[in-house]
Amino acid sequence: MSKRDYYEVLGVPRNAGEQDIKSAYRKLALKFHPDRNPGSKEAEDKFKEAAEAYSVLADSDKRHMYDRFGHAGLGGAATGGFDPTVFTGFEDILGGLGDIFGFGDVLGAAGARRRGGPARGADLRYDLEISFEESAKGSETAIQIPRQETCEACHGSGSAPGSKPTTCPQCQGRGQLRYQQGFFTVARTCGHCRGTGQLITKPCQTCRGAGRVQKEKKLTVRIPAGIATGQRMRLSGEGESGSGGGPPGDLYVVIHVQEHKFFQRDGNDLYAEIPVNFTTLALGGTIAIPTLDGEEPFAVPESTETGTTFRLRGRGMPDVSGRGHGDLNITVKVVTPKKLTKEQKKLLEQLASSLPKEKFEPTEAAQDDKGIFGRVKDIFG
Ligand SMILES: [Zn+2]
Ligand SMILES: [Zn+2]
Repeated sequence: MSKRDYYEVLGVPRNAGEQDIKSAYRKLALKFHPDRNPGSKEAEDKFKEAAEAYSVLADSDKRHMYDRFGHAGLGGAATGGFDPTVFTGFEDILGGLGDIFGFGDVLGAAGARRRGGPARGADLRYDLEISFEESAKGSETAIQIPRQETCEACHGSGSAPGSKPTTCPQCQGRGQLRYQQGFFTVARTCGHCRGTGQLITKPCQTCRGAGRVQKEKKLTVRIPAGIATGQRMRLSGEGESGSGGGPPGDLYVVIHVQEHKFFQRDGNDLYAEIPVNFTTLALGGTIAIPTLDGEEPFAVPESTETGTTFRLRGRGMPDVSGRGHGDLNITVKVVTPKKLTKEQKKLLEQLASSLPKEKFEPTEAAQDDKGIFGRVKDIFG
């Protein structure tokens, strides 16, 4: 079949402007659109022809080549496997027509929501609680997620193997019903086939015609060391399966880290408060401190004030992106002995009588830390 001249196809002169070309195509596309001419091969061919002509004449480079060399100048670029349903210009056109009538949504939406088209599967969220140790060291854990998967028995068609769905008689397979309302056409999803355009005559026994089945999927999740509460991991493609050939959604694993009995986390730094006998603080000595690698001895220097914090650099949480570690901060707190034996009381009384009497004056540390108002507040507050 020899090709018609593109200007002839659109019915515009060779010197037609952009707007003239667009509006000429708009008219033809609406007239010959397959949805308006169900089953008409002639209309479909006309529609494709117009779309092809428009794709060339609307593009100044292609139009230039066409003007100089005719169809040969395009080297088949505009002609191969042209599918009007994927031609993005179509929605523009319907939207544009709506604008003319001041009713942008009516036809535009009908054009955009194509029946039974591929739809991406839903994203899923899975809340995963892990221990503090797991977050510190990283781990692998198996999770089970209930999700909708494509039915294997019918490959998602919903029809029993060997049977075929029939075309919906209500909408003749278009998935939409159209109503004439005044000037324009209103499209509504066909309720009979729920927009798929097809009716399942013999439903698949496995999925009862749904095309999808609920399954428990086992997944192994690798938890990176250093992950914190509220952070989430995306497992691409592990959500629910798509429909109509659409891609699956993603799975988001949201992390909740259990509290630790000693450690508080702030960023990648860890804080712990360790009760220490006042004799150890006064004389110095070795205590046991918790670290991420287990209990370790720690030497408390002589004359350590209660509340002193020791920073162990690089002994905090690993950074989740692998950039080093935070610090471990150990704060020592004096414990006042309770339930003293007679012997202990006696020893303490001896010690007390040898110590200077406490005076009501601010300590050096307090003078450094606070202004006069800070001290006043402490006394009366
Ligand atoms: Zn099935
Ligand atoms: Zn229908």
